[in-house]
Amino acid sequence: MCTKTIKAYGTKSAESDLEQLKINRRSVTAKDVEIDILFCGVCHSDLHFARNDWGMTQYPVVPGHEIVGRVTQVGSGAAKYKVGDLVAVGCLVDSCRTCNNCKDDLEQYCPQWVGTYGGYDKHLDSPTHGGYSETIVVDEDFVLSVPKNLDQAGIAPVLCAGITTWSPLRHWNVGKGSKVAVVGLGGLGHMALKLANALGADVTLFSRSPNKVQDGLDLGAHQVIISTDEAQMESVMNHFDLIIDTVPYAHDLNPYIGTLSTNGTLVVVGYLGPLDPMLVTVPMIMGRRAVAGSLIGGIAETQELLDFCGKHNITSDIEIIKMQDINVAYERMLKSDVHYRFVIDMKSLKK
Ligand code: NAP
Ligand code: ZN
Ligand code: ZN
Repeated sequence: MCTKTIKAYGTKSAESDLEQLKINRRSVTAKDVEIDILFCGVCHSDLHFARNDWGMTQYPVVPGHEIVGRVTQVGSGAAKYKVGDLVAVGCLVDSCRTCNNCKDDLEQYCPQWVGTYGGYDKHLDSPTHGGYSETIVVDEDFVLSVPKNLDQAGIAPVLCAGITTWSPLRHWNVGKGSKVAVVGLGGLGHMALKLANALGADVTLFSRSPNKVQDGLDLGAHQVIISTDEAQMESVMNHFDLIIDTVPYAHDLNPYIGTLSTNGTLVVVGYLGPLDPMLVTVPMIMGRRAVAGSLIGGIAETQELLDFCGKHNITSDIEIIKMQDINVAYERMLKSDVHYRFVIDMKSLKK
């Protein structure tokens, strides 16, 4: 198949910095849309993937799954978008379309879902490459429409940080008066505060960082609990209907379980791997409390969120960076020094 060679940023090994690379994009097939990438958010998953934290990275890898851009070409059988439309692409670029999960708009749980990077491009018979690049070619069914009233850079993080927290908020029926807590104030955490607040919930932030208290309140929390302060933790025992835990590394979940009310759920979205220390089952059994996980969200749910953000004027709080500054951004992310999402201005790669 014909391909186009474009500029991208990625890495060839877990130990190397990201650098400029050349990659191939497929030519537009009948159902495809070609997108000129304007902005791409920087997710902690990009860093995990670049450094092979999950042991599944194939190199070279080009991260980036919070993509906003303009349509530059549409395939002969693609009807959803036209040249010039402002569109977005999140973490998924394909799935089998026939399994029960696909039929239920849960493409993220399709056994054959294709990640925006590190997935398998069946047209090219090679790995997919993400949004740290000039352009991307995506099946129109996995392309989303962006509300025109929102800041184009600020909306990018909605495509992963937003949908990953929106999906559990919706699944666990959060609404007016629900008591919701969010653990960790980073990219996912700050979107969770904004979205839970906009849904009418009573919102609490758990953070390790006393210097983030005011930001937490400004972003939508009604109270902030410093998780290392025992008295503060004690003050919210038996309290929450839902806790969304966004912390990226292994940490003790046990102190949070007791803060759930009877039938409450702690949903882990941040950390992927074995827990250390292990869960103590007593508070779960004594209060029918649950610990669950959740992965991003489906295409229809992501569009629902983009429309919700358009209606409620919600975007991410961002710091715009140049593509060339990505390695510094990763180091700052590791130190929790992000306020609260880096977004790459992709013009910087085109120069
Ligand atoms: P981030 O911006 O780096 O934020 C993570 C926050 O977690 C930090 O700001 C910090 O907040 C808190 N934290 C607690 N312990 C930490 C530690 N040891 N090191 C670093 N931070 C720590 O990350 P993100 O982009 O929100 O992503 C969070 C996690 O979600 C990542 O692991 C990512 O891979 C994962 N993720 C999962 C999904 C999914 O579908 N389930 C989707 C996207 C991302 P405080 O200072 O407030 O404590
Ligand atoms: Zn992500
Ligand atoms: Zn499927």
